[in-house]
Amino acid sequence: MIEKGSVIGIIGGGQLGRMTAEASAKLGYKTHIYCPDPDSPAFQVSDLHTIASYEDRDSLEKFADSVDVITFEFENIPFDTLKFLEEHANVRPNPKALHITQNRVREKSFVNDIGIKTADFAAVTSLSELEEGYKKIGEGKAIIKTCELGYDGKGQARIENASQIKEIWEGSDFSNAVIEKFVPFEKEVSAIVARGEDGKSLCFPVAENMHKDGILDTSKVPANISKELEEKAKEIATKMADEMDLIGLLAVEFFVTKEGELLVNEMAPRPHNSGHWSMDGCETSQFEQFVRAVCGLEFGPVGITNKVEMKNLIGFDVEKSQEFIGDKQAKLHIYGKKETRKGRKMGHINFIK
Ligand code: ADP
Ligand code: MG
Repeated sequence: MIEKGSVIGIIGGGQLGRMTAEASAKLGYKTHIYCPDPDSPAFQVSDLHTIASYEDRDSLEKFADSVDVITFEFENIPFDTLKFLEEHANVRPNPKALHITQNRVREKSFVNDIGIKTADFAAVTSLSELEEGYKKIGEGKAIIKTCELGYDGKGQARIENASQIKEIWEGSDFSNAVIEKFVPFEKEVSAIVARGEDGKSLCFPVAENMHKDGILDTSKVPANISKELEEKAKEIATKMADEMDLIGLLAVEFFVTKEGELLVNEMAPRPHNSGHWSMDGCETSQFEQFVRAVCGLEFGPVGITNKVEMKNLIGFDVEKSQEFIGDKQAKLHIYGKKETRKGRKMGHINFIK
């Protein structure tokens, strides 16, 4: 167990790091954020920060020596950086979990290998593999996605028919990609599970998610799905966390098919945008649960205290947030990012229903 007063090291300084730092402070921990971006929003609410690159071994070593445990808030940290840090401090979740989730082919293969379904997919590194893969998944509507560094729908292209393949290949770098069958889903849901050092786990209520242009727009809790499906989603998320021996949080995004089947879309070994509702609608927020898991504390309860619809403030939407400042049912969370940019997550509002 990490004693209160200890320092939690967080790699990455975005909004997830910021909200994790706030939850850490609430439980009596200090935080040290490591991020190359001098304008990181998490710096504003943390005790210590280091501005350095993920390859800077001297800074990484100093950082590791200054903290009691290390975690991370985003996935694109070089695997070697985490392996290096692990030599100097306890890293939770373990780097192996990050390694799996950093790459879409590894991630989907892992999921299938433990007997859980995804959309049909094929790995792509060349035009001929793209053509073959497209045939293998049965042609028709498909999506090609870069294996690494994609987020918020970036690094993706849709394929309607075979005649577009060459143009799509030439239009973007898909030399390390995955082609997957388009799923005409009924809805999208996500399950977030917390798992501790002792292997015990606890799932948050499942959220129902709506995306716009590949970016999460709203999450609703409770999700409008059957009790059986809710339990099934939690079971899958728990199994995945167990298989990775993960300590921390695992968020799993699913498609619910028209036949009522769950297909895993992707996962993240950290707090997740679709769990932000929990800050105002759950007995324990996902950020607090994350800190509890990483520090070896008992989990907080996860009962729903309010029905919530979380709405992301994307880009210049954040300017409209002022309209809600006097609204008791609208809980504002602004991330303090220096620059507003189109498509950038700037904050969210939890609307209490
Ligand atoms: P990101 O890492 O950008 O979130 P995702 O794979 O989750 O990437 O894709 C973003 C969104 O695009 C999904 O939430 C879903 O709405 C849509 N999408 C992605 N893959 C598929 C698919 N195979 N079929 C249908 N819609 C998809
Ligand atoms: Mg996604």
